Amino acid sequence: MVRRGANQPSVRGYNQALVLDRVRRSGGLSRVELAASTGLSAQTVSNITQRLLEAGIIEEAGRTLPGDRQQAGPGKPRTLLRLVTSSRYAVGVHLDPSLLTIVLLSIDGTVVARRSRPTPSASDPNRTVRLITKEIELLLATADVDREPIVGIGIAAPGPIDAERGIIVDPPNLGGWHRVPLRDAVAERTGFPVVLDKDVTAAAVAERWMDAAGTATSFAFLYLGTGLGMGLVVDDEVVRGGSGNAGEIGHIVVDPSGPTCVCGQRGCIAVSCTPASLVEDAEALGILPATRVGNDPRTIDDAFSALVDLAAAEHAGALTVLERGGERITRALAVVCNLLDVDRVIVGGPLWARLSPWFERQVPDALADLLVTRSVRRVTVTGTNAGDDVGAIGAACLVLDEALTPRPASLLLA
Ligand SMILES: [Zn+2]
Repeated sequence: MVRRGANQPSVRGYNQALVLDRVRRSGGLSRVELAASTGLSAQTVSNITQRLLEAGIIEEAGRTLPGDRQQAGPGKPRTLLRLVTSSRYAVGVHLDPSLLTIVLLSIDGTVVARRSRPTPSASDPNRTVRLITKEIELLLATADVDREPIVGIGIAAPGPIDAERGIIVDPPNLGGWHRVPLRDAVAERTGFPVVLDKDVTAAAVAERWMDAAGTATSFAFLYLGTGLGMGLVVDDEVVRGGSGNAGEIGHIVVDPSGPTCVCGQRGCIAVSCTPASLVEDAEALGILPATRVGNDPRTIDDAFSALVDLAAAEHAGALTVLERGGERITRALAVVCNLLDVDRVIVGGPLWARLSPWFERQVPDALADLLVTRSVRRVTVTGTNAGDDVGAIGAACLVLDEALTPRPASLLLA
């Protein structure tokens, strides 16, 4: 879907965001091309670009001769406009139960600095807040970027969250985190505006930002981490739901004879596809030694790596465990794809790099067979464009997205 602009003064903010979005995705456009691709009048484009030039967000960058580019018609040479990549930055924090990752993202989506370290396993949210603040300061110091161009801090955290109040509410994989007002705590300590969102939603926002062609308009982002979750973009809108907690796929039943879940059902994703459940399967079958001490995310992660290493060495039992996990996750994906009719599934998260060889071999074809739209079109399944840091990059994109992305929903209120 290609968005078109409107020329009323009440939608000035929307139009400016639209122009900036086009410049950012294209890498450089002339005013004529901007008018053509947004549907805005030449005068509106001229006014907007003037404001953006004065704010130092875009710059004039050389000229293109008519005929050089597809969209160009007759006339004098046209000045290309492009983003000033150092004009704005955002900090992204991904609070994963096992790893804390922080990135500094420039306005064009480039990671200019990153830090990561293990998330403190002690159930002491205050200690984690202090660590986040310290790591942000260290990141900014090493990146040598002033505070002034930094738009704000985004935090991606496991759900559920209280989006309105910026509170993390009892996430199953962060022991001791009960109603922690993380957004305000980090804002107070750093002095920056802070936005908080679910990790899976942040990942979906990152994917949308990194999609230079702007073609990823309806997709499900399957997040493979300590827990499994889903970020959703439908008809080019990020789906957050009424309370900011959309995408909880953990209690979709994929194995009716599977283990009992805290929710009272049997064989939910949360107890049959997570790294912890695959590790337990492998231990029960004697594939991994049943000598593991502890059940914390980092210990599980180490055991999961051992399982993947065995599979990579063609260990038949390890392969079976991963395949069974793949079958179950495929069933859950089919539920989501059939419900929302998305065009693609994008997969990422901390487990993706380790699981991708088996996932890619198994899931796309199996999923295709389960979809009611199989005779209409094939739903593509691909790995993330944003790499292992998708959560942190997404957190930074939340800030840029809030400031820079055109939204028809806000247009209705303008
Ligand atoms: Zn359940």
